[in-house]
Amino acid sequence: MPFSKLGLSDPIVQAVTEQGYETPTPIQEKAIPLILAGKNLIAAAQTGTGKTASFVLPILQNLIDAPPVRAKRIRALILTPTRELAIQVDANIALYSKHLNLTSMAMFGGVDSEPQKERLIEGVDILVATPGRLLDMYTRRAIHFDELEILVLDEADRMLDMGFIADINKIVERLPEKRQNLLFSATLSQQVRFLAKTAIENAVEIAIKPDSGTMPKIEQCLIPVDKDCKSALLSFLISENNWDQALIFIETKRGAAKLVSQLEKRGIKAEALHSGRSQAVRAQLLEDFKSGSLKFMVATGIAARGIDIDSLSRVVNYDLPDEADDYVHRIGRTGRAGAIGEAISFVSRDDFRNLCAIENRLGEFITRKEIPGFTPRLAIPNSDVSYAPKKAPKSGRRKPLKSRN
Ligand code: AMP
Repeated sequence: MPFSKLGLSDPIVQAVTEQGYETPTPIQEKAIPLILAGKNLIAAAQTGTGKTASFVLPILQNLIDAPPVRAKRIRALILTPTRELAIQVDANIALYSKHLNLTSMAMFGGVDSEPQKERLIEGVDILVATPGRLLDMYTRRAIHFDELEILVLDEADRMLDMGFIADINKIVERLPEKRQNLLFSATLSQQVRFLAKTAIENAVEIAIKPDSGTMPKIEQCLIPVDKDCKSALLSFLISENNWDQALIFIETKRGAAKLVSQLEKRGIKAEALHSGRSQAVRAQLLEDFKSGSLKFMVATGIAARGIDIDSLSRVVNYDLPDEADDYVHRIGRTGRAGAIGEAISFVSRDDFRNLCAIENRLGEFITRKEIPGFTPRLAIPNSDVSYAPKKAPKSGRRKPLKSRN
């Protein structure tokens, strides 16, 4: 189906055509007509699926004939977890609205608030904001919400991961009751559903299946290995396959530091990202990693939560996460923009329970690869529903496990 059949006006269709988009992605095909019809929406879709355009395009359409916005007012509010995402979404709005007369801006913390305050004076049609700075602006009466018509919670799961729940609730409480609500999240965990319940009534729920053709391709595999051989295995894989880059997830701070020194002894330069390092050091490491000057970063799950590193070619789960949803997040950082991403998990006997929970969550077994010379002394059994932890997985519908191959 072409964009022109979705109910979008010519200037919007022209803008996406100029971006080289030929047909809507599945999330766009599903979400755009619903949003145009004024429905509330909860959508399970990861970054890379075209989700940004799926809400920005119909928002532009719905605002196309609106009268000019008044001073310090906004019409649509898009809440995002990070400054990077706010900037990216705002940049997309600018592209898609280039033939329209609508205004937008990104607002985030960590920078001087005065220029943002000044820009708000004239009012902005679409504001993309991180929750903390927005609340601050509201408290300082730099912004009023009485003309707000549409609220979008983008990457809701990451906002919750980053501890924004209290700020989000405070913001939602201050919005006009009559408004359209849209929530996008990679996973619809229990916490996300709880947030959706408090912020959104009568929502239509849509999900984009992770295996749909347009999704980023992520090749997952697990390598059975004894715990004490994991660092040797990692060094072997890096050297043998000439890896360009990898984000390596590990359980503890101490483990991260130890692994970095073990890699260094084998001539592989790596850095550890964990809560014991200062904010400035962590920011620098992230920048180096993003620019490619740092090739291997060993991160604890906590430190890596919510940080904005996507578009990775490879993620290694040196230890499996305790939560199956964290696994989905971690692997979701790879395989962006049409490239194939790799998610490799080292699984020793201790990781078996977590493996069961993850495979149950995925609804399928992860392909196993034996690496000659690293076959574990203690075999890792196939996971089976009966091996799954007693406590129910935190979220996600459980599908029956398919048989391996
Ligand atoms: P997102 O999931 O919003 O981060 O989008 C991922 C990438 O897909 C972005 O680079 C978009 O520019 C691109 N994109 C979005 N919609 C389409 C489309 N219909 N056809 C081709 N590319 C698209």
